[in-house]
Amino acid sequence: MRTKNILVLGATGSIGRQTIAFIDEANSRCPGSFSIIGMSAHSDVKMLLAAANLHMDAKTALTGLSSVSERIDFSGQNALERLIGESGADLAVNGIAGSPGLKASALVIAAGMDLALANKESVVMGWALLEAMAAHSGSKIIPVDSEHAALFQLVGRIGSSSIVELTITASGGPFRDRDMEYLWKVKPDEAAAHPVWRMGRKISIDSASLANKGLELIEASRLYKVDESQIRILIHPQSLVHALVRTIDGSLYAHLSPPDMRIPLGIALSWPEERPLPFPGLDLAGKSLEFRDPDPLLFPMLPLARQALREGEAAAIAYNAADEAAVEAFDASRIGFMDIPLVVEKVLSRGWAYPARDMSGIFEFDAAARSAAHNIIAEICR
Ligand code: NDP
Ligand code: MG
Repeated sequence: MRTKNILVLGATGSIGRQTIAFIDEANSRCPGSFSIIGMSAHSDVKMLLAAANLHMDAKTALTGLSSVSERIDFSGQNALERLIGESGADLAVNGIAGSPGLKASALVIAAGMDLALANKESVVMGWALLEAMAAHSGSKIIPVDSEHAALFQLVGRIGSSSIVELTITASGGPFRDRDMEYLWKVKPDEAAAHPVWRMGRKISIDSASLANKGLELIEASRLYKVDESQIRILIHPQSLVHALVRTIDGSLYAHLSPPDMRIPLGIALSWPEERPLPFPGLDLAGKSLEFRDPDPLLFPMLPLARQALREGEAAAIAYNAADEAAVEAFDASRIGFMDIPLVVEKVLSRGWAYPARDMSGIFEFDAAARSAAHNIIAEICR
């Protein structure tokens, strides 16, 4: 078996660290399976150096600071471009947080390497562009977001022609059993404390407002070319069923696994091969599985995502940008938790029924939505 050369983008984050942990575990069982030949971080030099010192073959890139150590190979504006362009890797894991992840995805695809994609913002903001680039370069894009990785397995095995409905599940986050009065008063640290998954701060807060599921609704629609009306979201507190598909005869097929991101990461890193993963599979004995519909009044980020998806590409970009701005303001205690959907609703009401043609067009919509969100946040704070 040939060693697969891997780039880990966002190596200091939750996805990046779990990718490195999976590779170390896989190599300890089967030496030479993977080699980490590059890793990036934005500003956490200490953690990047610690990881790089354990992976001596890895070149390093620091995107948010100028060079601070001889062990950093590339830094500043073109750091990712050089790391990706000069690496000759087989596959890159994109675990960069937020909208900056889109440019990294485009660089990976332009270089013709496969992309294990955790950065859902890449799909929400720029799927048409990335898909066209991948058709040209021959890159395979493998979703890592757990629900979409589950759909990748289900759709790959069942075939898309007989599928009439997709379901993605949500744990419901820390506030799934709370009422409106409670939600208005929550503090940032409460919102960031996810009951099941240990993730970065932004995605954790998005999981509490269900904005994460809103982004994932758009992600599922783009990846699997299914209309918004054919995608269902169910609250499933146990987080064991990640996705389901319904076929034309009414049957439902589910994907179940323990809630552990190393599983979708391991599958994506091994693709197109199927290898045994170094973790025990799920044992259902003694477990119960519950499902219910989310409450759209308590979690308006879901109906707003549906609205954005129906409106078009620029609206999805605006939904993401407005949410990023609003979450930042909430995390700085400038606005309340339930102001997040208010900001996004007001931004979306400005009308975004436009296609997004290229990278600069995408970032123009992003900047316009962000600026509108900042103005609305300033009004709320007044
Ligand atoms: P984290 O916040 O834990 O990590 C983010 C990583 O991105 C860090 O390495 C950070 O570097 C780097 N980064 C931050 N800003 C920039 C920037 N402007 N340019 C380049 N790199 C940057 O996030 P997560 O790992 O939780 O999430 C990463 C992505 O994966 C998100 O899109 C998220 O939605 C998605 N995802 C995450 C899951 C999870 O379980 N965590 C599950 C499914 C999807 P530094 O540390 O130096 O700041
Ligand atoms: Mg997910």
